[in-house]
Formats: sequence, structure tokens, C-alpha cells
Amino acid sequence: MYRSAIIPLVFALLFTSIKCAQVNHGSLDEAKVYDYVIVGGGVAGLVLAARLSESENKTVVLLEAGPDGGLNKDINTPAFAGVLQGSQFSWNFTSTPQPTLNGAVPSLAQGHCLGGGSAINVMAYCRGASSVFDEWAEISGNDGLRWENLLTEFEQSSVLEIPPDLPYTIIANKSVYGQGPVMVSYETNLTNFDPTFANTFKNDPQYPAKLVDLTDGTGIGQQVGGPHSIRLSNGTRSYALPAYGYQMAGRNNAQIMHGVWASKINFDNKTAVSVTYTDKADNSTHTVKGKEIIISAGALNTPKLLMLSGVGPKDHLTDLGIPIVQDSPQIGSNLYDHHSAVVMVQVPEDIFTLVQQSNASVFDPILQEYQANGTGPLGRPGGSSFATERIPDDILKSFGVNVTFHTNLPKDRPHVLYQYATGAFQPNPNNLNVVSTFVALIQPEASGYMRLNSTDYRANPLIYSNYFGSAADMAIEVYAYNRLRSLMQSDAMKPVIVSEVYPGKNVTTEAELKTSLYNSARSFHHPAGTVSLGKALDPDFRLKGLNGIRVIDSSAIPVMPTCHLQASVYALAEHAAKLIKDQL
Ligand SMILES: Cc1cc2nc3c(=O)[nH]c(=O)nc-3n(C[C@H](O)[C@H](O)[C@H](O)COP(=O)(O)OP(=O)(O)OC[C@H]3O[C@@H](n4cnc5c(N)ncnc54)[C@H](O)[C@@H]3O)c2cc1C
Repeated sequence: MYRSAIIPLVFALLFTSIKCAQVNHGSLDEAKVYDYVIVGGGVAGLVLAARLSESENKTVVLLEAGPDGGLNKDINTPAFAGVLQGSQFSWNFTSTPQPTLNGAVPSLAQGHCLGGGSAINVMAYCRGASSVFDEWAEISGNDGLRWENLLTEFEQSSVLEIPPDLPYTIIANKSVYGQGPVMVSYETNLTNFDPTFANTFKNDPQYPAKLVDLTDGTGIGQQVGGPHSIRLSNGTRSYALPAYGYQMAGRNNAQIMHGVWASKINFDNKTAVSVTYTDKADNSTHTVKGKEIIISAGALNTPKLLMLSGVGPKDHLTDLGIPIVQDSPQIGSNLYDHHSAVVMVQVPEDIFTLVQQSNASVFDPILQEYQANGTGPLGRPGGSSFATERIPDDILKSFGVNVTFHTNLPKDRPHVLYQYATGAFQPNPNNLNVVSTFVALIQPEASGYMRLNSTDYRANPLIYSNYFGSAADMAIEVYAYNRLRSLMQSDAMKPVIVSEVYPGKNVTTEAELKTSLYNSARSFHHPAGTVSLGKALDPDFRLKGLNGIRVIDSSAIPVMPTCHLQASVYALAEHAAKLIKDQL
């Protein structure tokens, strides 16, 4: 909520400096056969559309269900990222009640607009442990996904911008960035909370966190002040729409449609030939033909669309009366995510949090600074530093459960990630000035799955997220949650913490703590793996057993990266685009 009518106007003026593209709601020629029809205008879809339409003799159509939020102030202003979930720009999915969480139903909101998740995410830019990408290559049989090879695409998709005279120390390996369209930067200034949070992990005698660059293949350590996918020149979000979508402005061979919801892929025997979609503007139904159909609808909507089209687990489709095109039992399974639990603390009033937006004396100068320079609290996402940690084998083994999966992970992989956000992740009825710290399990052993709820394409899918679903996953999260809580209660954090708000001082027993963990369990909104390379897909991202159809997005990811996902999806899609162009 913004306090005056002036503010939206001012933001609109600020963002008119962003180049606008011809991403309009045109119409398609239903008689024509386009070279590529891409479903989903998120991270992967926009990379693919931009790269494939570089070939002038190839026609590309991209269908996006959500709106164009290119000039929306909440999308463009990093600090407002939190208000986008639950808005018109998100699919407001929730998990089914989770038995592992005493029936809790965490949100699994996903991006629903041009830019997809990159338009509503929290902009952390990370790549994580290199061994993950080597494992992608082994599982998929595609050697281009090996870290040393995929680095080319990480570089191609990004550029690093470090503010001059940075008032804090970072380790930034500039050699792993190129001149790509996604602008990655560090913050010009940190909140008071940030250095204290970072130093608490750095100076912790048990596992001192080392300052590293988690974008150069390193998996374990600490990042301070970013990096984030934020444009340094004006402090606005750098995401797939401006980065890739606007490249297509003026290309006659590329057409981006928004507000069009794909409901079915049509097959001629085993060959995909067209996509049926509903134009939300007038609820009319259309079909667009393609020589090749590429599904990039994200890890929850991609398997949903395939199942609606008769591609998926035979028993499930038969139960719903959907004619089978291809029995693909793996589709919808292998759902991985990063899951976290929250310790929320009250902080002094001189630390800006989103709770203070309604306080004019605090907010007005902040707004003025942002409008003038693109700097200050509004130019950052509100959680700058994070640390990843590998728990030593002897501690894991002391849990008394089978921890073989976690002890056997390659040695560059962490188990957990600690971070914070300057806002309330738990109820905050007294409007206290709060920061939510959290710890996420980032190499989960257990996976979940998704299924259709109905044959109606408008119905949300059933998502069985299976958070902390193995005994070892749960034991690690409980251990790390305890550790986070005690670090937040330590003397080191005292200068920036007034009191613990959640779980709160009344929570003292292990049982109470577990209940607090269950009740605060959250998705990092990183679902992946539901149409995985090596399982449902061949090394070239083609659906096994079918022709003319590929899946290229987070669904294809066979193993979870050790930190935030967007950088990996940009690189994966760049790689796939190159692969398709090389096959021409
Ligand atoms: C709230 C949130 C916070 C996140 N925070 C971070 C972060 O800080 N750092 C980070 O690295 N990653 C973060 N992520 C994750 C990252 O944004 C995603 O991993 C990434 O966007 C996935 O890319 P994708 O191409 O697979 O799917 P998406 O980017 O989700 O794109 C899929 C697109 O397909 C469209 N679509 C779906 N179904 C249909 C259909 N039937 N017809 C037409 N269009 C359809 C959707 O509307 C969407 O635009 C976050 C994600 C969310 C949602």
C-alpha cells in the first residue's frame, strides 16, 4: 500500500526511461505454420524466443498467460518484490496439506506475466556448486551442461556491475561474467542489519563462513551485499522481459503474445503440431501451428499442460478420462524445491524494513533518494547477504537416521542456506519493525510430485511438495533451525535485534520448536525437475517417445543447484537455444 496518489505517478515517470518493446497483444495467423511456438514467457521462454528469432528466416511465436508488467512500479522497484506474490503477476498456487509439516499448506506462488519468475522474484543472483552442473551432464548425456562448458552460457547471459567505492568488502570474480543482458550488481550501501548478520556467520567459531563468490562455481561460503539482478544505473529490477524480450522489438519474425493461456498441445499421432489457447481478453479459443513446440511454462505449469494434452502417467490420465498420447510416468514426479523455516526478529527503528512503508517520516526521504539516484532501501530487495553451509559428517551421523545421501554429496556442496528478508514472513499483528531470517535445505533428498486436479485447464494443480520428506532432510532442517535461532540470540546479533518475535520466547521444548518449524515452512519458490533431463527428456530436451516437442525451463533441471535458481535457468535456456540453432 502506498500512501499517496502522487507516488504511482512518480514511479511511472521513473520507469518510462526503460526501453519499451513491441510486446503487444496482437493476433496470430491460424493458417500459418510457425517455425517455433513457445509456451510461457518467463525466464526460459524469453531467452529462447530472443535467441531463436535472431535467425531472420525463422518465425517465432511466444504465448504468455499473464500480463505485461513492464512499466509496473512494484515489479521494477526491488524493495516491493514481496507485494507481487498474490497479485495479478503470480500464479497463487499452494502445496496440498503436507503430512511432514503437520498439515501445513505452504505457498508456491509462481510468476504470471512476461518475465515469469524473474519479474516477481527476490533477485538474488547465484550459481552455486560446480559439481551440480557436472551431474546435470552425466544424468542427461549432454556434455554441454558440464560446469566448464555451461560457464559460456552463464557469461553470455549476464554482466557484472560493481558500484565504485564500495564501502564493504566483497569477493567478486569478474571473469565469470560477460556482456550479457541480465545486469547483476552489488548494493551501494548495506542496512545496519546486514554487516552484523554477515559477521555473525563469519565469526562463528563452530563453522566460520568464508567470504567467497558463489557465482564462480564455488558452493560453500558467504556472499555480502548481493549480487542481485538489479540495474546499477537506476536501481531497477533487471529481468527476462527487458533483458531478452525487448531485444525482439522490431523483429518481424517474432511475435510475443500476453494474456493468452495455452490449454492443450495437439498431436498428430506422436508428433506435436499445434497449441490451443484462450485469449483472456475476450475468452475466445484459438489454435496456432508450429513445426516445433517448446514448453517453457515453469516446473508446475509445464507438466500440467503436458498432462492436459495426454502426455504423463497413464494411470492418472486414465482416471481423469484424458486420452493417452504418451505414457510418461516421470512427468510430474521428481519435484524438488528449496524449503526453509523462519526465525522472525524485531529490529531497531533505524533499520528500514517494509513494515515502515506506512510511516511517512521514514518513507518519504527514502522515496526521494530512490527517485533521485536509484539508491537506498528501495533499490535493494531487502535481504543482501547469505551463507551456505555444509554440516560435518560427524554431526550428521549423530542424528541417528540414515544420512548417506547427504554425506555422499560431492564435497563442494552445502546442505543449508541462511538468509534474511526485511519484512514479516509470519503474522505481525502489532506492526513491529521486523526482519525474517530463515534457513533453507538446499540439497533435499526427498522429492515430491504434482498431478492434475481436474481436466479444466483453469484449475490449479495438486502439488505434493513433500517438504523435509526424508528423516535425514528433517533432521538437518531441525538442526539448522536450532542453529539459526541460537545465532540470532547470540551476543553478536544483539546490536540489531530487539527481541525474537517468532517462534518467540515461550517456545522452549524440541517439540514446540518443531511445530514452529512446520508452521513457518516456506518454499523458496524454486520448484524444478518435474520433466527432467535423463528421465522424461533426451539430451536435446526432446520429450522421449514424441516428435516436434521440447521442454526447456526449470522442469528440465535434473538436480537442484545449491542456491537460487534463476541464473541456472537463464544459462540452461541459452544452452538449449544454441543447441537448437546448431541442429538447423
Ligand atoms: C516469489 C519468487 C521468488 C524467487 N526468488 C528468486 C531469487 O531471489 N533468486 C533466484 O535466482 N530465483 C528466484 N526465484 C526462482 C526463479 O525466478 C525461477 O526459478 C525461474 O523464474 C524459473 O524460470 P522458468 O522459465 O522455468 O519459469 P517461469 O520464469 O516461472 O516462467 C514460466 C512462464 O510461463 C507462463 N505460463 C505458465 N503456464 C502457461 C500456459 N498454460 N500458457 C501460457 N503461459 C503459461 C507463466 O505465466 C510464466 O510467465 C523465485 C521465484 C519466485 C516465484
